[in-house]
Amino acid sequence: MVNDDGVMTGAVLSVEDVHKYYTMGETRVHALRGVSVQVERGGFVAVMGASGSGKSTLMNILGCLDRPSAGRYLLEGVDVSGLDKKTLAGIRNRKLGFVFQGFNLLARTTALENTALPTLYSKIDAAERVKRSLDALTLVGLADRANHFPSQMSGGQQQRVAIARALVNHPSILFADEPTGNLDSRTSIEIMEVLQNLNDQGLTIVMVTHEPDIAQFAKRIIVFRDGTIRKDDSIRERPRASEVLKTLPELED
Ligand code: ADP
Ligand code: MG
Repeated sequence: MVNDDGVMTGAVLSVEDVHKYYTMGETRVHALRGVSVQVERGGFVAVMGASGSGKSTLMNILGCLDRPSAGRYLLEGVDVSGLDKKTLAGIRNRKLGFVFQGFNLLARTTALENTALPTLYSKIDAAERVKRSLDALTLVGLADRANHFPSQMSGGQQQRVAIARALVNHPSILFADEPTGNLDSRTSIEIMEVLQNLNDQGLTIVMVTHEPDIAQFAKRIIVFRDGTIRKDDSIRERPRASEVLKTLPELED
């Protein structure tokens, strides 16, 4: 949807009665059983639920890595449910950013080069590539580590490089699947501080987490159970990660 000023409004993503079946030999798993959900631009959603409840299946569909068996998925108002893999890959690279539990950085490659990887598919020149990558590293507070290798960085810093890499093509939505799953509790809150700051600047975020302490930093919590949405609550008074960090002791380096 576009308003009179040509600005996109309304839901950035909209899932309508989506089902997903996996067939393995004779057995069929009904992983999503009629899921409907909308996320507004600037939303920050935490997705929770027991293992096997369908979180990753939904994230794969939202991230255009997989297609629904039935139902519709509208991304920025466009029905992407029936698009072929190649078209979906293009949408993914242009519009979506991904962060995972493992940081998946290339080991012999600097923070700057790791951040620049998704730009290699687009027709921009080398100078612009470096500028965008440095801008993304600045957003996550790591401009001064641009030439460091992953082995020279802490887990939290590596995850911040992974976030910069996810941002470098200026996505409309950031998907994070357990982004703090490999991090200690203080570092996890530092990552939530980064995500809250990005969300303040207008980035839409959808994040899977097992940890209620982490989910509380989002604006909304959706709980899955057996392939359906069991609960969907807005959070009225959420903590600011930056304030919580002030109450915690600093870690020694
Ligand atoms: P969660 O991320 O909440 O742990 P998933 O979305 O991974 O849950 O899984 C939901 C259900 O679908 C589970 O029963 C799981 O075993 C099944 N499933 C997930 N991916 C596949 C697949 N590629 N093939 C077959 N079954 C799958
Ligand atoms: Mg999962």
